Amino acid sequence: QLRLRSVLALVTGAGSGIGRAVSVRLAREGATVAACDLDRPAACETVWLLGGQGSEEVAPGVTHAAFQADVSEAGSVRRLLEQVQACFSRPPSVVVSCAGITRDEVLLRMSEDDWDKVIAVNLKGIFLVTQAAAQALVSSGCHGSIINISSIVGKVGNMGQTNYAASKAGVIGLTQTAARELGRHGIRCNSVLPGFITTPMTQKVPQKVLDKVIGIIPMGHMGDPEDVADVVAFLASEDSGYITGASVEVTGGLFM
Ligand code: NAD
Repeated sequence: QLRLRSVLALVTGAGSGIGRAVSVRLAREGATVAACDLDRPAACETVWLLGGQGSEEVAPGVTHAAFQADVSEAGSVRRLLEQVQACFSRPPSVVVSCAGITRDEVLLRMSEDDWDKVIAVNLKGIFLVTQAAAQALVSSGCHGSIINISSIVGKVGNMGQTNYAASKAGVIGLTQTAARELGRHGIRCNSVLPGFITTPMTQKVPQKVLDKVIGIIPMGHMGDPEDVADVVAFLASEDSGYITGASVEVTGGLFM
């Protein structure tokens, strides 16, 4: 059953890992996907995987399209929403913010630059995308579902990630507040908190650290990007029509 037929979905960080799996899953459920990434070729590759055009120059009748944007820059996010609306003649009603970065260092040695960069992409980026998407939906009177990818680290912390944990905790509060403000406009806002998922982001983590984490995951293994995409598809669909302000953990039971 195609739960997302006639839905236009904007996915940031769509060029890799969770964002790519989300794009594939939403398209499989019938959505038209606007795949955005800082890395243009990566976004185009995702669109190619979806069977779309792989370019911003979209021919009539084409379904999916790739867009380049830096979510940490207000002007870039504004242009992104304008381009998506110009391309598809409507605002996206499903918006999934997957763009994110890590710059790990223990608190005692963390540089101001590493702090600022992570907060700019992971927290300010989600503020900018959520705000721009909500403004477009409210001004056109459309309902929508906004899904922000946080992390279990935003709830429980993680060694070497004060910047990342703060950004992800911020995403939970931002999303809950947006849910309170936007519910009356028919816009639902939820965050998803993945645990340890096999993507290029976690490929940077030393194997002995991963082995330790796997040892305390009740399910006994790391998650796949598709495990997160399954939950995002549910939150995007009307199957979750009365769920807003939720923080859904996808962790294999890590940190109950
Ligand atoms: P990834 O590194 O595979 O993908 C992240 C994507 O975001 C990349 O394609 C990158 O180019 C893009 N990106 C980075 N900065 C950007 C910017 N300024 N503007 C636009 N795009 C930008 O990482 P992933 O593991 O797929 O992570 C996706 C999201 O899930 C992130 O928010 C991450 O924090 C979160 N998360 C991941 C895990 C995990 O275990 N992998 C766990 C919890 C949360």
